[in-house]
Amino acid sequence: MSRLVSAKEMLTKAKAGKYAVGQFNINNLEWTKAILQTAQELQSPVILGVSEGAGKYMCGYRTVVGMVNGMLEELDITVPVALHLDHGSFEGAKACINAGFSSIMFDGSSLPIEENVQKTTELVNTCNILGLSLEAEVGSIGGEEDGVIGAGECADPDECKKVADLGVTMLAAGIGNIHGKYPANWKGLSFETLDAIQAKTGDMPLVLHGGTGIPADMIKKAISLGVAKINVNTECQLAFQEATRKYIEEGKDLEGKGFDPRKLLAPGAEAIKATVKEKMELFGSVGKAN
Ligand SMILES: [Zn+2]
Repeated sequence: MSRLVSAKEMLTKAKAGKYAVGQFNINNLEWTKAILQTAQELQSPVILGVSEGAGKYMCGYRTVVGMVNGMLEELDITVPVALHLDHGSFEGAKACINAGFSSIMFDGSSLPIEENVQKTTELVNTCNILGLSLEAEVGSIGGEEDGVIGAGECADPDECKKVADLGVTMLAAGIGNIHGKYPANWKGLSFETLDAIQAKTGDMPLVLHGGTGIPADMIKKAISLGVAKINVNTECQLAFQEATRKYIEEGKDLEGKGFDPRKLLAPGAEAIKATVKEKMELFGSVGKAN
C-alpha cells in the first residue's frame, strides 16, 4: 500500500486558507530524505517534484516510486505527501501514471492551445478515474525548461480559463517568473496578470514555478492572489553545493573517516533541510498537515 496522496485536497485547503504548499524537486535518496524529514518535523504537507531528467537519473520512475514509498513507511511519514511529475511530456505523464505517481504535470505550453487542450483533456479523464491530481501549464515559464530558454512571458487569462475549465486540479501560468537564477534586470512578477487569471479561474489553485530568488514580499503577494503551490528546485541545489564545497575546502574529507559518503554528503543534506524549512515558513504551510 502506498501512503502517497493526490495533491488535490492539500491544495484546495491551501487556496482557501491563503497559504501555499511547496513542491521541492528530488534528485536522489539524500534529497528525498531531507525533504520528507523536514515536512514531518514541521507538520507540513509537501509535494516531491520529479522532472523527466531526474527520473532518468534515478534509474526510472519505478525506482523513484519504490524509494519514496519505502521511505514513507520506514521513516513513518504521516503528513500528506504527493509524488508529482514536473513538466511532463504526454508520454512521460502516461509512464508516471503507470509507475504509481500520485500527481502529474502535463506541460503542453509549447503546443498550439488546441493541442494543449486536447491532450490535457485526455489526461484529465485518466487522472480522474485513478484519483490523481493533474497540473496544466499555460504560457511558457521563462528560463531553462529542459534545455529550452524562455523569456518569462505572461499567460493569456482567457486561455487559462479554457484550460482550467477542462477539470485540471491546478494551473501553472507564466506571470513573468523564470526557472533558475533571476537576472539582475528582471522586471518582477506581473501581479496584474495573476489577478486577471484568478478572476477568471476562481477557486483553481494556481502554481508559481521558478520559486528560487523571488523576494519574500512578492511570494506573499502571489499567495494572496491565489497561488497555492510554489516550486523550488535550484535553491536546494545551491544550498547543497555550497555546504559540500565548504566541507571539502575546510579539508574535512581528509580528516579521519571524513571520506565516508555518509559524512561527506551530510552537510549538503542539512543545508537542504534548512532551505526547505525556510520556504515552508515563508509559504505558511507549517502545521497544516491536517
Ligand atoms: Zn517549472
